[in-house]
Amino acid sequence: MNKYKTINRRKSDRIYVGTVPIGNNSPISIQSMTNTKTTNTLDTIKQILELQKVGVDIVRVAIPTMKAAESFKIIKKKVSVPLIADIHFDYRLALKSIEYGADCLRVNPGNIGNKKRVSEIVKCAKDKNIPIRIGVNAGSLEKDILKKYRIPTPEALVESAIRHIEYFDDLNFHQFKVSVKASDVFLAVEAYRILGKKITQPLHIGITEAGSFRNGTVKSSIGIACLLLDGIGDTLRISLSANPIEEVKVGYDILKVLGLRSRGINFIACPTCSRQEFDVINIVNQLEKRLEDISTPIDVSIIGCIVNGIGEAKLSTLGLTGGYKKSAFYEDGIRQKNKLKNEEIIEKLEIKIRNKIKKIDELNNCKK
Ligand code: SF4
Repeated sequence: MNKYKTINRRKSDRIYVGTVPIGNNSPISIQSMTNTKTTNTLDTIKQILELQKVGVDIVRVAIPTMKAAESFKIIKKKVSVPLIADIHFDYRLALKSIEYGADCLRVNPGNIGNKKRVSEIVKCAKDKNIPIRIGVNAGSLEKDILKKYRIPTPEALVESAIRHIEYFDDLNFHQFKVSVKASDVFLAVEAYRILGKKITQPLHIGITEAGSFRNGTVKSSIGIACLLLDGIGDTLRISLSANPIEEVKVGYDILKVLGLRSRGINFIACPTCSRQEFDVINIVNQLEKRLEDISTPIDVSIIGCIVNGIGEAKLSTLGLTGGYKKSAFYEDGIRQKNKLKNEEIIEKLEIKIRNKIKKIDELNNCKK
């Protein structure tokens, strides 16, 4: 939780993707999507396992062909994280994926076809008790909606979503979540805001096709943060033209900043200037890499000099404040007797962080 603000989340229904709850105040789950060929089962399994290591909650896998559906069957048996089958165009791929154990489906109303096909998918999902995501995308709106609005507008995205929500309602199917994504931040945010007021189902949020690692991170952070601050969003995916692992890390970073979820080390580090007593940038980057395996939340401040170092160290679980040749080390806001030699900071601080994590984990285990 953030010290200064608590976000009131939009009230929504709860569904489950495998064992992961979505909606009704559940932790905001982080999704990513494999970008290996699904038919390359070994690489896809490897990527899913890598995503699990960095804390992904749910993984989406594209099923573009029947061959991919056959591979999905094998992949599903080898991983424990819930899998969503991503379906476009051919409803038979949806039916096959459900048969092969998908924990959820993502269908795109703009290209899945007529109501009859949708009803077959829904019937199958109902039988297996799995949810569906209605995934509207500004880039693939239905032709008639696009004709009506001329360009993708928030209202157009919402109309597409509502059309399918009504199909689902008619079929008495309520286990679904909805997304109305666009690559334009204003378009996506407004669409979610409108939709959020109209329905009670959980919302999967994201800025689609956001771009390269840096550009996409900035766009996603702005769009997703606007929604989260409004209390909108039950699960999210950061769409980056980068390794999917980065999507998960950025997702956690956004949620961490807003106090909505915490995982791993929150490094507080100064931008550096000529007052720095040690190489802050190098130390922070190295420690970030070395400590990637940590999932226990902890604040660690690494500040180059006393200007802001003492204040930040007092607010952090562990803190380092740059000093001449040796730097002051703080634990739980209290300055420790022994300083760290500046040339030994990386090794020594890693040990101190790991020891502290061990203590925190032991304490948490005792409380259980
Ligand atoms: Fe410079 Fe010190 Fe500020 Fe870091 S904390 S930017 S070293 S003045």
